[in-house]
Amino acid sequence: MTHATEEQQQVRELAREFAERELRPHVERWDREWALDASVLPALAELGFFGMLAPEEYGGMGFDLPTYVGALEELAWGEPTVALTLSIHSAFAVSLLLRHGSVEQQQRWLGPLARGEVLGCLALSEPGAGSDAAAVQTLARREGPGWVMSGTKKWVTNGRIAGLAVVLARTDEPPGSRGAKGIGAFLVPTESVGYDVGEREHTMGLRPAEVVTVQLRDVRLGPEALLGDASAGFVYAMQGLDVGRLGIAAQAVGIAQAALEHAVAYAGEREQFGQKLRTFEGMQFKLADMAARVDAARALVAWAAATPSTRASSAAKLFASETAMWVTTQAVQVFGGYGYMRDYPVEKLMRDAKATEIYEGTNEIQRVIIARELYRGA
Ligand SMILES: Cc1cc2nc3c(=O)[nH]c(=O)nc-3n(C[C@H](O)[C@H](O)[C@H](O)COP(=O)(O)OP(=O)(O)OC[C@H]3O[C@@H](n4cnc5c(N)ncnc54)[C@H](O)[C@@H]3O)c2cc1C
Repeated sequence: MTHATEEQQQVRELAREFAERELRPHVERWDREWALDASVLPALAELGFFGMLAPEEYGGMGFDLPTYVGALEELAWGEPTVALTLSIHSAFAVSLLLRHGSVEQQQRWLGPLARGEVLGCLALSEPGAGSDAAAVQTLARREGPGWVMSGTKKWVTNGRIAGLAVVLARTDEPPGSRGAKGIGAFLVPTESVGYDVGEREHTMGLRPAEVVTVQLRDVRLGPEALLGDASAGFVYAMQGLDVGRLGIAAQAVGIAQAALEHAVAYAGEREQFGQKLRTFEGMQFKLADMAARVDAARALVAWAAATPSTRASSAAKLFASETAMWVTTQAVQVFGGYGYMRDYPVEKLMRDAKATEIYEGTNEIQRVIIARELYRGA
């Protein structure tokens, strides 16, 4: 593993300070109220966190991936919803525009995205297209020079507050194409007529994140909405997921680190049988296993960010999310009955951790991908 550069260290510290000051004190209330304070995202924008992956010429920070995942981990340590929001924004709006956007598209969107004036979201999943993302049914048909889009998108995180949705829709180009072929990726301004946000989902964790269904009712789009090639959207989405899964892996490490710290502190204070919990060997071994797994997950995420590939992103997301789930469950155990209570911080982290095993490809799908990569070219 490579050593953190000075920049990586400084960015981590900036994110940790922000998390400590602006996020940590409020997480319990936000979990209860189902919302972040309105000041949180503007404050992150002010510090440049919306532009982590955007080049400096667009007002971004131009971070490399190792710096980026370090920042996301620290923000997730503070409040996992914040890391999720910035991860989706960066992986699907910023990085796909950089990779496949025309000069005009980049000039229109990258500045506002990097400065945090516009939040990006991803609308890929549908009622019948989850793990099988190539089964999307949302249709974009050509009309004149532009497109008319209709369909239903499920579980769009920040689908209401985002200004730009990256929407995957079937274009039928080339004609008769099926599955992963014939899908386009579209830049849909959420103010478009026919972009209708439905009911909010009642999520187990990450409760400040607004996860919604979006109905696309004959949304009329100009030719400038199409990103790249009308038949290559699925490939673009997979490229976005390679970056996105690094972000989710970093989020998972931040959740696990927070749970570990709470458990260490509690075991250092709570007494039973006339002594601190931390003096029991059974407790020491549990804490040691938790710490070792968090270290391993962090190292794997750093390696995957430094040597990006589909397999590395999937492995990082798989291992870090399972670490987060295991470590948070152990943390609840360390707290005993108090761990099960909402008044203590660890049950929330356990609820938050569960999502990391599900979104941006469930862990079963990560295993499918890793196994496929093992046999690539065979
Ligand atoms: C909190 C949250 C936020 C989300 N945000 C977004 C978002 O912003 N944008 C977006 O587009 N989507 C979003 N999603 C959707 C998410 O990506 C999907 O839920 C996920 O990909 C799984 O799809 P599914 O729920 O339809 O499950 P299914 O695909 O129906 O899977 C059900 C079960 O079957 C298993 N399974 C399926 N296929 C296989 C296989 N081939 N081999 C073995 N097991 C298999 C799965 O692993 C899972 O355990 C979000 C989901 C959640 C929970």
